[in-house]
Amino acid sequence: MDKQQDFVLRTIEERGVKFVRLWFTDVIGTLKSVAIAPAEVEGAFREGIGFDGSAIEGLTRVQESDLLAHPDPSTFQILPWRGEVDPTARMFCDLTTPDGQPAVADPRNVLKRTLSRAAEAGFTFYTHPEIEFYLFKHGAGSGRPEPVDHAGYFDNVPGGTAHDFRRRAVRMLEELGISVEYSHHEGGPGQNEIDLRYADALTMADNLMTFRTVVKEVAIEQGVHATFMPKPLADQPGSGMHTHMSLFEGDANAFYDASAPHQLSVTGRRFIAGLLRHSSEISLVLNQFVNSYKRLWGGDEAPSYITWGHSNRSALVRVPMYKPGKSQSARIEHRGIDSAANPYLAYALMLSAGLKGIEEEYELPEAAEENVWALSASERRALGYRALPSSLEEAIELMESSDLVADTLGEQVFRYVLANKRREFEQYRSQVTDLELKTTFDVV
Ligand code: GLN
Ligand code: MG
Ligand code: MG
Ligand code: MG
Repeated sequence: MDKQQDFVLRTIEERGVKFVRLWFTDVIGTLKSVAIAPAEVEGAFREGIGFDGSAIEGLTRVQESDLLAHPDPSTFQILPWRGEVDPTARMFCDLTTPDGQPAVADPRNVLKRTLSRAAEAGFTFYTHPEIEFYLFKHGAGSGRPEPVDHAGYFDNVPGGTAHDFRRRAVRMLEELGISVEYSHHEGGPGQNEIDLRYADALTMADNLMTFRTVVKEVAIEQGVHATFMPKPLADQPGSGMHTHMSLFEGDANAFYDASAPHQLSVTGRRFIAGLLRHSSEISLVLNQFVNSYKRLWGGDEAPSYITWGHSNRSALVRVPMYKPGKSQSARIEHRGIDSAANPYLAYALMLSAGLKGIEEEYELPEAAEENVWALSASERRALGYRALPSSLEEAIELMESSDLVADTLGEQVFRYVLANKRREFEQYRSQVTDLELKTTFDVV
């Protein structure tokens, strides 16, 4: 029994915890949970808790379906929304096969593998996401969902649901050990944003899974409906999850160079070049739903073209300004990823693409400082700006031939994501929509 495990057992005892939820994530990014009695926790640390992996999206093949969940004691937290009666705690788990091998399809393991590759090159990977989401009065079952307010970017809504909602969510996150940096109303009606303080990418991916649960719990508490759907309203901005990234070598920020233009180091330039060069093939994971492409191609500050810049909000990758001399703040912002991505797989691929750029010494193209949407198609061609995939179907085709994605995700997750997404696209294509009836029925 190590020190952290010991601490967990003592806390369970002292706080009178009645249930311990073991959390893990499927390949699509859905949080899974199994509750165990406090008396089982010691055994769970020792041997893991067995479950049928074949019943969970993408985790195992049917013929090798037994998996074990091993709780990570460093992630132990008491869940604030369960109140004081029968306190409930949770831990994230690592999944293994019965013979103790890491489960190849465990998204947490995919990220861990990629992080150790970075560690071999001397790097720690930090991320900081800005998470956008919508609050509606009710779910999507009864027609077009109705936002909880009609406010816009940074609006202070007097007496509005949004303030109470954000305050409650931020409080709960802090109680769970997740620091929040900013929160504000976003551009769309009922749209909000909460930005988390940076952490290493594994902690952050766990934090994001917790974040989504907290937001859903607060929504239930307040009688509203929260969604991370990338584009819930056709004529309003979508919900992105801009992610700021940095690599550290020990205490030094590897993206910082005091003497370079914009203080962006050669390592930083190569990292961006990797992100750009591989952005089409990783798009299926960063933007994983049919609906994601409606955000990417719907304007409203979502990127459509593979460019980078400094203060350019139309660029896919941006190098934000920070206070001079604050080398720790040097970072790269990815504006393509949306709020519905599986954070473990998405962060693994973003890191992998960046590392590839560093390893192969990719040359960074010129920064785009103009509004890329305002250019004509031929101007964009002349400047060499390629487009992101325009649909889920195109993203599938682009990932199919990617060695980078296959290597990073591992063969099993790679195949599973492709099969799952092909199915989603087929189902979408087979619909006859209201729009088609409106535009075609009476004219032919
Ligand atoms: N909602 C926009 C997007 O989809 C981002 C808006 C912003 O944060 N400036 O990415
Ligand atoms: Mg923001
Ligand atoms: Mg925003
Ligand atoms: Mg941003």
